[in-house]
Amino acid sequence: MTDTASPARPLAEGDEPAPRRRPALSPSRAGDFKQCPLLYRFRAVDRLPERPTRAQVRGTVVHAVLERLYKLPSPERIPANARDLVAPVWADLSAAEEGLSELFTGDDDPELTDWLESAGALLDTYFTLEDPRRLEPEACEQLIEAELESGLLLRGYIDRLDVAPGGQVRVVDYKTGAAPRQVAEARALFQMKFYALVLLLTRGVVPSQLRLMYLADGEALTYRPDEPELRRFARTLDAIWAAILRAGRSGDFRPNPSRLCDWCSHQALCPAFGGTPPEYPGWPEPEDVTGQESRLDRAE
Ligand code: SF4
Repeated sequence: MTDTASPARPLAEGDEPAPRRRPALSPSRAGDFKQCPLLYRFRAVDRLPERPTRAQVRGTVVHAVLERLYKLPSPERIPANARDLVAPVWADLSAAEEGLSELFTGDDDPELTDWLESAGALLDTYFTLEDPRRLEPEACEQLIEAELESGLLLRGYIDRLDVAPGGQVRVVDYKTGAAPRQVAEARALFQMKFYALVLLLTRGVVPSQLRLMYLADGEALTYRPDEPELRRFARTLDAIWAAILRAGRSGDFRPNPSRLCDWCSHQALCPAFGGTPPEYPGWPEPEDVTGQESRLDRAE
């Protein structure tokens, strides 16, 4: 490690740290700010509710199924068992999270049947990309945190972490989203570099692979980061956080319209669409700026 421009104070290796109530930056919120400062404000400062879409919730179901699949003995990680997990995962999720059951009229809604089938189809596609019987991940749905020298706390969840016997680390992220790949890809790579940086800071290892698995179209993208790039990325994150704090002080979070507006829940309040944002509530107390990601964020 030669570039010490942004050295870290690593957290203890191996443990899953509990979320801490202090300001933190997650890849989802950092991505929001980069995409559109006003979107960041709506989500992180105003905390406006967003009605989850069926596509988002399906992504959450698929992620949860894959997490459960890897808890099965390896010979049992087959497509039929993954499909069998879809309905129970949906039942647990809709019981646990308010508002999800309202996505359908009831258990006999034919659209629910089709939707569960479409989750099964995403899982079938997953099996065309790799054979989970041959893998023993170190962790699934792993919370990771690291602190930059600036004091900025980075926090995120990794879908899956594979560690080879030789110590090579691979970060795997499943993508189930409806946004076109070319639109979503820059955001996904940003997210993967974020995870790679946190692993570098906590383990002293540059992940050998960042692997994005697109379950809607059955394609995978593998990216191999290097350490100087990740050190530069640390400075990028510091700069994003500084810009967030500047906007937080002034309340000046500008809209930045793009194709991604099609997936924004807040067009009615956005000046770019003729709306008026609510009065700026002021920057939240530090303990309220936790950078916590929701399940839906993680299932993008
Ligand atoms: S509609 Fe577009 S410009 Fe407006 S807040 Fe949402 S993402 Fe930003």
